[in-house]
Amino acid sequence: MRVLVIGSGGREHALVWKLAQSPHVTQMWCAPGNAGIAEERLAKNQSLVECVNISVEDLPKLLTFAQAKQADLTVVGPDNPLALGIVDLFQRNRLRIWGPNQKAAQFEASKVFSQNFMETYGIPTAKSGVFSEAAAAKRFVATLGGKCAVKADGLALGKGVLLAASVAADEKAVDEIMVCKAFGAAGSRVVIQEFLEGTEISLHALCDGTRFRLFPASQDHKRALDGDQGRNTGGMGAYSPAPFLNDRQLAQVGHQILDPWLRGCEADGIDFRGILYPGVMLTKDGPKVLEFNARFGDPETQVYLTRLENDLVELLDASLSGTLCQIELRWSATASVCVVMASGGYPGSYAKGKVIVGLDAANALSHAKVFHAGTARAEEQVITSGGRVLGVTAWAKDLRGARDAAYAAVERIHFEGAHFRRDIAAKAL
Ligand code: AMP
Repeated sequence: MRVLVIGSGGREHALVWKLAQSPHVTQMWCAPGNAGIAEERLAKNQSLVECVNISVEDLPKLLTFAQAKQADLTVVGPDNPLALGIVDLFQRNRLRIWGPNQKAAQFEASKVFSQNFMETYGIPTAKSGVFSEAAAAKRFVATLGGKCAVKADGLALGKGVLLAASVAADEKAVDEIMVCKAFGAAGSRVVIQEFLEGTEISLHALCDGTRFRLFPASQDHKRALDGDQGRNTGGMGAYSPAPFLNDRQLAQVGHQILDPWLRGCEADGIDFRGILYPGVMLTKDGPKVLEFNARFGDPETQVYLTRLENDLVELLDASLSGTLCQIELRWSATASVCVVMASGGYPGSYAKGKVIVGLDAANALSHAKVFHAGTARAEEQVITSGGRVLGVTAWAKDLRGARDAAYAAVERIHFEGAHFRRDIAAKAL
């Protein structure tokens, strides 16, 4: 089977790494990929994964490439090509592609769509309102007693959410998004949610249009600095399992959210084949959905795929063919921890082109894998080329062991200005 993976981050490196282990895969490309992806080899025939320099948003070029190479399966990592309709385009051209179609991808592409859907179908969520005028939005925040989350409707690289703790700050957040257009057109409508207190977890459900299979819970660390301080980022680290729910509670939460979600999809004619990733707050009044994503999380994927025992090609195939009923997910009895090493300054501006040393030494540790995100090759060296640079991942029989192993690997890696959180998984220990 010839496989094309779309994307260039740590999530895509983990997808490529796991797909490359499948005996079904005979050739693999990644567009555009990164320096780590270009070093992966297929288990089947030892051939290297080839990175091709096509942007994830250049749908016509991606289509031409997949057609020319006769790709048997395309796997989409990031949200923007899904929102642009890559799945519909490939399917119109009779190519097999895994991920939600454009209508289904709205769960992530539009927070207004998701919030209205949750209200309509009784999915537990925060008290909220949807607004296209700043004055009405401000009247609503005043009723929430000061603390709320103001969310731009459209995609904003995971940054379109402002949390505010006073009415004045709420009003400023509304102005920033709706009047100053801090996130561009994405902010012409907003969702305003009451501020929820509790423990935040990530859920992932693999869906095939009519059924779902729930992954174990994981937890991301969105803020840049230790102790959940600093600005929101794409994610500074993750671990799984997250011990805040036992298996029975996890299944219960899964049903509370996903049963009405599936009923709603059926009623609205949404055929969702892909990963639904709800961000969930476990509050004292039960679980509440903060948002839906329509793809694998980054860095959650890095911890999930180092624990997954199934052949990923077979899982994605079942999700596409509507045959998840024949599949049981199998997870190793290990815990996994991913620590993101970022460029100095991220999530603000940062320098690129810093030489990274120690990658081989880190990968030489047993039960550790360095997933690349913002990296590139410059002659014989690997250099930084993005904000999140590496997802240093390790697994062990328990979380403490996995965390210690991940940080032992981090200690072996150096680049100028590198910064990472030292408290990944600390909440669980
Ligand atoms: P979102 O992109 O909607 O998941 O929001 C980004 C982050 O903001 C989430 O991961 C939460 O940490 C936080 N957040 C979003 N909505 C709320 C809310 N209603 N109450 C408290 N925190 C929130």
